[in-house]
Amino acid sequence: MRADKQGLYIAACHNDFAAYPRQARDGTLLMNHMAKRTRYSAWNLLAASPSHADWAPVWLDAEPKSRYDVVIIGGGGHGLATAYYLAKNHGMTNIAVLDKGWIGGGNTGRNTTIVRSNYLYPESARLYDFSVKLYEDLSRELNFNIMFSQRGLITLAHTRHDLDNISRWANAMRFNGIDAEILDAEKVRELAPRLNFDSGARFPILGGFTQRRAGSVRHDAVAWGYARGASRLGVDIIQNCAVTGFIRQGERVVGVHTNRGGVAGEIRADKVAAAVAGHSSQIAAMAGFRLPVTSYALQAMVSEPVKPVLDTVVLSPAVGAYWSQSGKGEVVIGGGLDLFPSYAQRGSFATSQMVLAATAEMFPSFGRLRLMRQWAGIVDVVQDSGPIIGATPAPGLYLNCGWGTGGFKAIPVGGWTLAHLLATGRNHELAEPFQLARFHTGRLIDEAAAAGIAH
Ligand SMILES: Cc1cc2nc3c(=O)[nH]c(=O)nc-3n(C[C@H](O)[C@H](O)[C@H](O)COP(=O)(O)OP(=O)(O)OC[C@H]3O[C@@H](n4cnc5c(N)ncnc54)[C@H](O)[C@@H]3O)c2cc1C
Repeated sequence: MRADKQGLYIAACHNDFAAYPRQARDGTLLMNHMAKRTRYSAWNLLAASPSHADWAPVWLDAEPKSRYDVVIIGGGGHGLATAYYLAKNHGMTNIAVLDKGWIGGGNTGRNTTIVRSNYLYPESARLYDFSVKLYEDLSRELNFNIMFSQRGLITLAHTRHDLDNISRWANAMRFNGIDAEILDAEKVRELAPRLNFDSGARFPILGGFTQRRAGSVRHDAVAWGYARGASRLGVDIIQNCAVTGFIRQGERVVGVHTNRGGVAGEIRADKVAAAVAGHSSQIAAMAGFRLPVTSYALQAMVSEPVKPVLDTVVLSPAVGAYWSQSGKGEVVIGGGLDLFPSYAQRGSFATSQMVLAATAEMFPSFGRLRLMRQWAGIVDVVQDSGPIIGATPAPGLYLNCGWGTGGFKAIPVGGWTLAHLLATGRNHELAEPFQLARFHTGRLIDEAAAAGIAH
């Protein structure tokens, strides 16, 4: 007999064991349950160590049902976090997250993992700092180690003009109640001694500022942790399920057409939300409206792994690149956008070349490292570099997009605020300034200076 996922977990989230369906050889789920370990703890690791066979899967890959209260398009961090907070904060569990590929296979699994809240304006400062605070507690909340390493982020100044900008930026952050510390060149050298402090350097380092609470988080763990949390609360996670159109009742969106799902691929829902980053314009086109979003490829690359050489994140707006070192030892290198719209998930050679030249200039010793991988993701860039979290011109359809080059850090708050809107019908106060209406009223929140480089 095929098992319905609902009701299979009979243990509360904090119990060590849950009844779990057995899996037949062909992958179907069988109803005679086995007790499986679900909670990660030192005790459970020890107790399970002889075989590790009795661990429950991290999440269940569900079959689509014909109807849900909420369907979320996009199994990236924002879609999964929305599902998790709908279930956790609002008790709604008849939810499906649909992804055309695999969860976390979009930008969530392609980004350089920098988390920070160093924005200029109060609206963004509040939004992103709420997210950093949720990240600070997320490993405990999800019982999944997201490896948040608050190693700080230094933004470099190379000219007098940069120094002026940096003091304006750091002071604005402090006014908004966010930590920021202005650094002179000596202090920068203490924190990142491998930078190029040569007197003849093309980009002399005059100082900078740091947000010490910034850092990096393991990206896959964020997707997997939210997926696990949502799945345990009863959410259906459905991979390889592309949304190809919307079911309408008059103007209202009442479901989605997919390449899987019930009758002729239809899945009905009271509300549909899309969190598809660089593919948001495609979803909007399916619903019959246009978005002020342009899709670009943003690329990153990693070197071969080496011993610890950089224990903070360094960003130079002037050269258009930033660097950190991963837990595995790879130097993670990010750069700016390819400056032409594209859905080709590759990243242009011209940008790679510019970013690598900047790397060799700023960290001369990294010039000896071999490059191991280069990749790109399609990001959704909005004129004022702010997100869109709210209702759309199509009743019943809601959006979370516009994060552009910097939405990984916003996954917790993006999910939290969209879940609030879907559950209550009202915008969360943090999301209120980030409605589509701002492109009509002209009340833009121009964060291009703080978000204008990819990070
Ligand atoms: C190279 C790079 C570096 C970056 N660095 C940082 C950084 O350091 N810090 C930071 O904060 N941000 C960074 N970002 C941005 C960040 O990665 C994104 O803003 C964030 O991950 C967006 O998450 P998401 O859940 O909205 O989208 P995604 O993770 O892209 O998920 C969207 C999902 O929607 C699915 N989808 C699309 N269309 C459909 C459809 N029709 N039907 C079903 N599913 C669909 C896709 O398969 C995808 O899995 C970077 C991005 C890139 C590409």
